[in-house]
Amino acid sequence: MIKASLRELSAALAQKKISSVELSTLFLERIERLNPTLNAFISVDRDKTLAQAGQADAAIAAGGAGALAGIPLAYKDIFCTEGWATTCGSKMLANFVSPYDAHVVQLLKAAGLVTLGKTNMDEFAMGSSNETSFFGPVRNPWDTAKVPGGSSGGSAAAVAARLAPAATGTDTGGSIRQPAALCGLTGLKPTYGVVSRYGMIAFASSLDQGGPMAKSAEDCALLLSAMAGFDPRDSTSLARPVEDYARDLDQPLAGLKIGLPREFFAEGMADDVRAAVDAALAEYRKAGAVTVEVGLPNSGLSVPAYYVIAPAEASSNLSRFDGVRYGHRAPEYSDLFDMYCKSRAQGFGAEVKRRILIGTYVLSHGYYDAYYLQAQKIRRLIADDFAQAFEHCDVIMGPTSPGVAFDVGAKSDDPVAMYLSDIYTIAVNLAGLPGMSIPCGFGAGGLPVGLQLIGNYFDEARMLNVAHRYQQATDWHLRMPEDI
Ligand code: GLN
Repeated sequence: MIKASLRELSAALAQKKISSVELSTLFLERIERLNPTLNAFISVDRDKTLAQAGQADAAIAAGGAGALAGIPLAYKDIFCTEGWATTCGSKMLANFVSPYDAHVVQLLKAAGLVTLGKTNMDEFAMGSSNETSFFGPVRNPWDTAKVPGGSSGGSAAAVAARLAPAATGTDTGGSIRQPAALCGLTGLKPTYGVVSRYGMIAFASSLDQGGPMAKSAEDCALLLSAMAGFDPRDSTSLARPVEDYARDLDQPLAGLKIGLPREFFAEGMADDVRAAVDAALAEYRKAGAVTVEVGLPNSGLSVPAYYVIAPAEASSNLSRFDGVRYGHRAPEYSDLFDMYCKSRAQGFGAEVKRRILIGTYVLSHGYYDAYYLQAQKIRRLIADDFAQAFEHCDVIMGPTSPGVAFDVGAKSDDPVAMYLSDIYTIAVNLAGLPGMSIPCGFGAGGLPVGLQLIGNYFDEARMLNVAHRYQQATDWHLRMPEDI
């Protein structure tokens, strides 16, 4: 059961081979046994989970329950979940119990999915290794000396270790795709505006997008179909018809044009990653796809542009955490101003403070034009590069991460080295495009390598088809860590 796909779980539940309470108990027991080593979950609440599972069983018994009803799902702790602690990996929100559900949570609950718990993450989703969490680092199930990636590292470790059949994540600059790559999972960041940001604690609002992290493209398609949809409470949510993202999974790949960005295949990619990516491309050619070289000449500017834009938006978004309305409040202070200062000094960790300082600086009078406006112009150039590339291809491929999972502690004192972990993923967020990572082999130390797929706007169904056909022909996505 722990290895089963969502379709298999759905069938087993429908045929009453297992109940949702039994299935949820199975995963809760694994969490109890393995979470002390992995630290993938921040909150688990057996009673709440089993109560919801009981309701799902009743709905299944009554008939007419949806296909995903009764399947347990873990949520990144950035999603507000009614009655559950929602910490965003921060001391600032360590005691915050959300009074409402995020739109994504509402939709997934309405589809009958059972909340298995809340997963660990980098503080306010700022990081690429899950080491900035107030709740401590998450360990990679493939090698517990390594990071799982970030910021959705708890979700990635949970699914990789089969503590959950699937999970949600968010991706501002790579936080679904990079941990999916480092943990051997399939993760999808949708086109900006496809998934509502309502109730998803804001980091950089023009970049943030929620999405699924699962074992396969098919599972991601089923989850995305349930979590996407227009929501008037998010002003950037797009009013588009609901889609069945699994509709094209089996389409043949003959004639598919894969664009390979010259800049992604230049220096910077580790040899083991390159070997796995090249082998995956050979597999695609075998399936009838053709590869063409494309250029993304401004992609080298994506990390610097992102580290102006994302901190600028973060400094504004995080100003709400002032110790007054909710969140941590310093126990002792002399006056109102002192309370703000102490609450924020105590509540935020070092990386979050660094981003607030950078963001405040680049938005300040006299620097706004030089940094923020320049970065916005670069953002446009990056989007234009992709538009031109997609005139020559259907999907773009390359590595997700420049290397496999690194040691816990290896980059935590070097922010720039950490920022470069997202060198292949960030441009996708700046352009608002959909992107995925799928497992495509193993590199040094037997650690997973991810292949990145980038689609044109709203081409999720096509991208999922391209990923699914590869997963029909290979079994990388079925491998799981030993001893787990
Ligand atoms: N690692 C990047 C950062 O630290 C991206 C994080 C994300 O996508 N949430 O900002």
